[in-house]
Amino acid sequence: MTELREKLKVELDGASNLLVASKYTIGLTGAGISVESGIPPFRGPGGIWTRYGEPPMDGYQRFLADPKGWWEKRTRTAGISELIVKIMEAKPNPGHHSLAELEEMNILKHLITQNIDDLHRKAGSKNLAEIHGNMTKLRCISCNTRWDRDEFEIKGTPPRCPECGGLVKSDTVMFGEPIPRDVLAKCQIETTKCDCMLTVGTTAAIYPAASFPMLAKRRGAALIEVNLYESELSHLCDVVLRGPSGKILPLLVECIKEKLQEKSGST
Ligand SMILES: [Zn+2]
Repeated sequence: MTELREKLKVELDGASNLLVASKYTIGLTGAGISVESGIPPFRGPGGIWTRYGEPPMDGYQRFLADPKGWWEKRTRTAGISELIVKIMEAKPNPGHHSLAELEEMNILKHLITQNIDDLHRKAGSKNLAEIHGNMTKLRCISCNTRWDRDEFEIKGTPPRCPECGGLVKSDTVMFGEPIPRDVLAKCQIETTKCDCMLTVGTTAAIYPAASFPMLAKRRGAALIEVNLYESELSHLCDVVLRGPSGKILPLLVECIKEKLQEKSGST
């Protein structure tokens, strides 16, 4: 750990300076942070889709055409079942905990995640926009009311929303499904407000999430990237921290605490 801190000394210093100076930092996370908790990614080696095949690109249209069939079939789909089991077993890693701690320290004001695994909430993050939904929840596609899976009493197939009678499906956003309007609006508002964005474990290849750092940058915000690999964002970033987020984010929190201490000591 100290070795990594030494190796990334300049970057950690730069990133913590930006975060301490920022008035409104938001975070954007992707699959990379969850892989460190044992959740397989969708794409790439060992990915769910690599092994089971990609789901149909018109999954949402198929659901709309036959919601009864979707509800009857969904628990028997191997790839989804494996993912659900992995997600239920997964625990947040130090990266998730560090982001929750940054929120508690009032450094991080909001977090946008592309992950559906609930790990940010489990770690204690409160101001959270789950742009691709949350696998542990169900959602009414008409009024966007959401329920925990365990709390929703399924009556009939397909189940209907007790509020408005709309169709209920997994909160997870399917291929072909529009991002729920309430979440998308929240992400856009937060992106417009921020003067610093911390991206973690995302290759920034999937829209609309990929557009948020670019929009923030255009509006003059600083960008900090924590990622194992070079991404399409890297060249835009003010600081790039290359490595596993579960190791880097705790170091970043440590550096910020030191800076805040120095600051309070010198005044
Ligand atoms: Zn409804």
